[in-house]
Amino acid sequence: MKKKLKDMDFKNKKALVRVDFNVPLKNGEVADDTRIEAALPTIEYLINEKAKVILMSHLGRPGGKVDESLRMDPVAEKLADLLGKPVSKVDDCIGPEVEDAIADMEDGDVLVLENTRFYPGEKANDEDFAKKLAKLADAYVNDAFGAAHRAHASTTGVAKLLPAGAGFLMQQELNALSKATDNPEHPYVAIMGGAKISDKMEAIRSLLNRVDYLLVGGGIANTFLLAKGYDMGDSLVEEDMVELAQDLMEEAKEKGVELVLPIDVVVADEFKEDATHKVVDADKIPAGWQSLDSGGPKTLKKFKEIISKARIISWNGPIGVFEMKEFAKGTNELAKALAEADAVTIIGGGESAAAIKKAGLEDSMTHISTGGGASLDFLAGKNLPGVDALDEVEPTDFEEIDDIEDLE
Ligand code: AMP
Repeated sequence: MKKKLKDMDFKNKKALVRVDFNVPLKNGEVADDTRIEAALPTIEYLINEKAKVILMSHLGRPGGKVDESLRMDPVAEKLADLLGKPVSKVDDCIGPEVEDAIADMEDGDVLVLENTRFYPGEKANDEDFAKKLAKLADAYVNDAFGAAHRAHASTTGVAKLLPAGAGFLMQQELNALSKATDNPEHPYVAIMGGAKISDKMEAIRSLLNRVDYLLVGGGIANTFLLAKGYDMGDSLVEEDMVELAQDLMEEAKEKGVELVLPIDVVVADEFKEDATHKVVDADKIPAGWQSLDSGGPKTLKKFKEIISKARIISWNGPIGVFEMKEFAKGTNELAKALAEADAVTIIGGGESAAAIKKAGLEDSMTHISTGGGASLDFLAGKNLPGVDALDEVEPTDFEEIDDIEDLE
């Protein structure tokens, strides 16, 4: 079993916490604070335990060098608002300036370090960089579920150099997602959407060993339909993935998984919000038109029939270009079907979580993950390096019962 906060002593200690503060910014401000909110239980616990709370995260893709637009200042401000107490921020994440700031901290103070991806050593999981991070603290907590599928210095490197445990968000995510991986109830229905099959092919292949139905929509479905020999017009497809899509359909058949593709789709004459659009059967897309929503009425009817039988449903990726109102209907209808389903509903992070929130249905889902790639990897049965790197502890008899659904 992995070490947790309650297995660690934080009093008067410096706790280095990897959080997932990779939030969207707009005009230099935090546009969505969901991920910051999600880290509050751990941060508040550590404050109450009288730790010196040192927070680190990546933000965006600065490419291993300083990018002024990706500094953590707006995040630290937002955190101070949410905590209702002052939060300090330093302009680096390693080195003398940071060490001085930490030396000035009182117990229960909170400090946000600069974007870890300003250093190439972060993504390279460079040992020297990890050592410099580890030098800052007495203990390490990983609460960044959304980054747990990456073996970076701040997620795995530093975990090996300090006593290392999982934060509350990490624990909660693993517990919730385990419902779909540890002896799941059946039928288990996975829904895969999003833009590209290439991003998700490994996960799809692994899911074929676990699920009873795989409902496919979005750009991914276009490539599958192309592989079936349909003419996809101007739709987004990945020609180089056609063979793989054919293999996956074969594999599904061999494994007794019903892989369900769109029957009818909404096509548009252009990729834009106010394009002319109509519903056509998936094998009758006219030349010059493109599928922007897999959720035609026949598709939705079929998807809903299967969803209504499910005991577990996991969903990753919108089934249409849901950012455009006219092409969001399929995704919204699907979200409603999940909300009404008598099943455990697990939503992968990223775009599907955004679609559920846009539809105002977040309270009707069992779990909405804060991690897109991490939840997909976990559901596909992959080990998450950020979790693997944490310390093991022997469970007490009581804990074994308490944490029956815990990971590892
Ligand atoms: P992903 O990050 O892979 O889950 O992809 C999400 C994106 O897929 C969203 O921004 C959607 O607009 C896009 N998407 C979904 N369906 C389609 C489609 N049929 N054609 C083009 N893009 C799509």
